[in-house]
Amino acid sequence: MLSGAWRAGVWRLLALVAAAIAIGAWFGQPAAAALIVVGAWTALMLHRLYRLCRTLDSRTLLRPASGRDLWSRIGQNLAQRQRASRRTRRRLIEQLRSFRDAAAALPDGVVALDAERRIVWFNAAARDLLGLDPRHDGGAEITHLLRAPRVVQWFAEGAEAPLTDVASPADDHVRLSLRSIPYADARSLLVARDISQLQRLEQVRRDFVANVSHELRTPLTVVHGYLDMIEPESLPEYEPILRELRLQSRRMTQIVEDLLTLSRLEAQQSTPDERVIMAALLESLRREGVALSQGRHQIVLERVGDRDLAGSTKDLHSAFSNLLSNAVRYTPDGGRIVLRWECDESGGRMTVSDTGPGIPAQHLPRLTERFYRVSTSRSRESGGTGLGLSIVKHVLMLHQAHLEIHSEVGVGSRFVCVFGPERLLPAALPQAS
Ligand code: ADP
Repeated sequence: MLSGAWRAGVWRLLALVAAAIAIGAWFGQPAAAALIVVGAWTALMLHRLYRLCRTLDSRTLLRPASGRDLWSRIGQNLAQRQRASRRTRRRLIEQLRSFRDAAAALPDGVVALDAERRIVWFNAAARDLLGLDPRHDGGAEITHLLRAPRVVQWFAEGAEAPLTDVASPADDHVRLSLRSIPYADARSLLVARDISQLQRLEQVRRDFVANVSHELRTPLTVVHGYLDMIEPESLPEYEPILRELRLQSRRMTQIVEDLLTLSRLEAQQSTPDERVIMAALLESLRREGVALSQGRHQIVLERVGDRDLAGSTKDLHSAFSNLLSNAVRYTPDGGRIVLRWECDESGGRMTVSDTGPGIPAQHLPRLTERFYRVSTSRSRESGGTGLGLSIVKHVLMLHQAHLEIHSEVGVGSRFVCVFGPERLLPAALPQAS
């Protein structure tokens, strides 16, 4: 390329000189004409050289060249540039090396994957946690090495949310959490973290709560039983104390029962897939609501769609009944409570809505935490344990469903249990009597 441009330049000069000689010969001065053309050409070249020199000077990273003639300035400039680019390259290599060393020293397993999910690089922790072999596994597709069906499916579905509690391919006792972090050009980083210790602690916590609740159950039943045996009328001066004792012992029993329910749900991995006959379940919920409300509210049942659900009747009844009892407890007298079951191709939705006080928006994200209450005194007065929505969340999780909460202060609340289409069953035929 460069020699082509050089040759074209020489040809252009020769053509100009030839043309000058021809025109000069016409006037009888061929040598003078050739000299004028060569002089002008040289001046033009010097001007361009000057501009090039200025550009190089202005872009020099270090200090401008100090040579007196243009050629030596350009020479100095180019030499400086070469030295600077060598230094930059060395610095970049060092930085790259220190990045790799830092990533290699991470306690989490890190695997760099290309757009086809083939392994580009991995660190020492990935070798230990994921059982990867640096001699053979570079370039292999990650799903050929991590072959657990859950992991393969997770990758197939885009690996967006973290995947927890995966057994390490290197050691069954090590439990991992996997995260995929996308970066440039559809490449991604697979990060594997050892969560065995965390899981053990979580198990200890669960066992502790379950054991304490279990241990408290019997003494509470005894206390409750004795309190029930005492007739307040026979001890009129202790009547208010007895009433309070009964109330509190009932509350404690309810908390213990709710904690035991939660422990059972947490220990469960899946639900029995029995047919939940929605028509019967809704009717029984309505009756429960009417009994709880004792005529203080208008309770309405709406059934749009006649599909049943696959899951645990007992657990789903407990979840829906928690939502209904909240609606009754928090909605002032004269309010309206609607139980609505609707289903279509996208799934099923069980909604409990009320015209109660509503919940300020800042509380909504934390409402399903254990013992989280908007107003502790109001919850206690109404006989709440602070565990109801936590139970609802766990029951729904076991059914691969989720809870949506919509609420507006002064207008009311709407709790929606959203089920996927795979949970819907054609409605059962009515039994012949
Ligand atoms: P609790 O036993 O205290 O009712 P939950 O877990 O069932 O506990 O509910 C958590 C909190 O959410 C309640 O303390 C209450 O402040 C709020 N809440 C739940 N349902 C409603 C409702 N329908 N209307 C207004 N507030 C509600």
